[in-house]
Amino acid sequence: MTNYPNMFAPLDLGFTTLKNRVLMGSMHTNLEEVGDWNRIAEYFGERAAGGVALMVTGGMAPNVEGGVFPGASGLFNDADIANHTIVTDRVHAEGGKIAMQILHAGRYAYTPNAVAPSAIKSPISPFPPSELDAEGIEAQIADFVVAAERAKQAGYDGIEIMGSEGYFLNEFLVTHTNKRTDEWGGSYANRMRLPVEVVRRCREAVGPEFIIIYRISLIDLIPNGQTWDEVVTLAKAVEAAGATILNTGIGWHEARIPTIATSVPRAAFAWVTKKLMGEVSIPIITSNRINSPEVVESVLADGCADMVSMARPFLADSQFMAKAAAGDADQIAPCIACNQACLDHTFSLKTSTCLVNPRACYETELNYGPAETVKSVAIVGAGPAGLATTLVAAQRGHKVTLFDMADKVGGQLNMAKQVPGKEEFVGLVEYYSKMLEVYGVDVRLGKRVGADDLTEFDEVVIATGVTPRDPEIKGQDRPNVVNYIDVLRDKADVGKRVAIIGAGGIGFDVAEFLTQQGESPTLNLEEWKAEWGVGDPATTRGGLAVSGPKPEVAARQVTLLQRKAQKLGKGLGKTTGWIHRATLSMKDVEMVGGVNYEEITAVGLHISTGEGRKNPRLLEVDTVVLCAGQLPQRGLADALEGKGITAHVIGGADVAAELDAKRAINQGARLAASF
Ligand code: NAP
Ligand code: SF4
Repeated sequence: MTNYPNMFAPLDLGFTTLKNRVLMGSMHTNLEEVGDWNRIAEYFGERAAGGVALMVTGGMAPNVEGGVFPGASGLFNDADIANHTIVTDRVHAEGGKIAMQILHAGRYAYTPNAVAPSAIKSPISPFPPSELDAEGIEAQIADFVVAAERAKQAGYDGIEIMGSEGYFLNEFLVTHTNKRTDEWGGSYANRMRLPVEVVRRCREAVGPEFIIIYRISLIDLIPNGQTWDEVVTLAKAVEAAGATILNTGIGWHEARIPTIATSVPRAAFAWVTKKLMGEVSIPIITSNRINSPEVVESVLADGCADMVSMARPFLADSQFMAKAAAGDADQIAPCIACNQACLDHTFSLKTSTCLVNPRACYETELNYGPAETVKSVAIVGAGPAGLATTLVAAQRGHKVTLFDMADKVGGQLNMAKQVPGKEEFVGLVEYYSKMLEVYGVDVRLGKRVGADDLTEFDEVVIATGVTPRDPEIKGQDRPNVVNYIDVLRDKADVGKRVAIIGAGGIGFDVAEFLTQQGESPTLNLEEWKAEWGVGDPATTRGGLAVSGPKPEVAARQVTLLQRKAQKLGKGLGKTTGWIHRATLSMKDVEMVGGVNYEEITAVGLHISTGEGRKNPRLLEVDTVVLCAGQLPQRGLADALEGKGITAHVIGGADVAAELDAKRAINQGARLAASF
């Protein structure tokens, strides 16, 4: 008897049956561009073996102009078909099903060849698109059809036609991007003609027994987006045109409302999908910020959808479904929705992986098989680096002892989880704690370890982390000065007016922590929707609240400072930095770059600007918080070296600059895979 009866209920599509209600949603990993098809097959094969009912590939361009960037992959010729067949064969051998997503990027194509309904440049691409003439539109439809036929030849179980997120088909639907006056523009009947025609002709080409998922934009989150009536009209027309399943798309890429970041509440948009239930008779999939079997089950039990799509959670744990089925949900490595190793990599044209699972997309080269020789391993430091090393070493059969001075595991993750919008870190620490128990690791907390305690181990790993950098500012020893550890861990008293020195990841975190009044909006959907201005598309076009964003008043007046004369937050995540900046702007945080810190006195922080130390200014604040970066904590490593013991030094203890949990975990896991 499963804990998740709705999640594990089969779904009969008439000509085929899906074994459960979970879809692995499309993710662009850049693996296809690497061109190692055995590696791609292994990536999907492992997830199929894990038990997910149906997977969708990353977006495949139907033609060159529809590629997200130059060289984007597609199914362009016989060689491509042969390569894709390696993947579909592997998935089928594991008892899985896989659909290929056809993604035409339209004006989001990062190339001068971009085409669109009208020649209107998007705010997220430097390339203005060319307006297609009627013949050009026909050519695009024909290319969709050829891509669908090739997908079938390559052994896919179906296709997903990408009609949301502001891509080509979505662009035809709204007057924001479609100013045409011919049969492809003007009335909604004309604007929806293209997506409906694409579905109709693809269905004609592939026959009845082939899955066609249409990804429909249910809430555009842009000005002049679709009304709810329009969305429902399209859904019905797409069903009539031959779609098998509707998948939910939320928000255009240019929307200024976060839709998948960690600060978005879990299942934040399931209510939108629920509105569509009953309007069509084909199954509907919901999506966005669903990352645990409990959330899947409750979304399905609440009648929000027939099926759930999760994408990133399958990077974090390929065995998500198998663990849920076995009653081991607490052993699922949780996706914390950070984007740091997946989407941020995709947008930097790097291969995606996962912060919590460095094996993701590296299945053919990073493996945690049984160790040849079982060793006794001491790991000092139970932060992300130490925990990752511990888990992999223990999984491989080594006898691991984990030490930490603190009375709990997690290290800096315990500080991160205090920050509003970073609640997912709670689950990550819980996961690590559970796995230490599962692997029977000898965990010794609350005691400082010396070099003498480590002489008997076969391998010693130093993951002692970092220590705050001393910024050497005159007056920093005054009682009105604290550092980020005092604030986030020790809950130091902080006044109403605050200056934060240092605007790296931690400076931003501290600013968000200090400005938040009461409960984090991430834990309160209605408050979060009000804060970002998410309305009901039934009453406001595109689902943008008429009254706009309504942030809570800030708990404190905060000034965030850095010495570099550049935009603050430049080093934050590629896909999430704008959210942190917008959050702080909504809380009226003043962000100042290019400053010199002259002195801290009883009345506040004295600063000047530029090399000439001009524009002296006193920031009258009650508290100054130091977030000036970090330095490696290597004392123990040095002591061991003094005794002639060679230790592995990892994480922040190795290199503190640009340290984050992604690097720490990756380094730890790879080290433990090597001994
Ligand atoms: P960081 O990102 O390196 O930022 C340090 C800040 O301190 C910078 O703003 C720097 O700016 C300033 N600074 C450096 N030396 C200084 C000095 N001598 N005096 C005064 N200011 C100084 O480090 P962090 O904020 O401590 O974060 C540590 C790591 O954790 C980072 O790599 C960060 O990416 C990661 N993290 C990430 C997130 C995230 O959301 N992804 C959140 C938290 C932490 P100036 O030199 O211009 O003054
Ligand atoms: Fe999830 Fe972060 Fe991993 Fe991406 S990198 S899959 S967001 S945990």
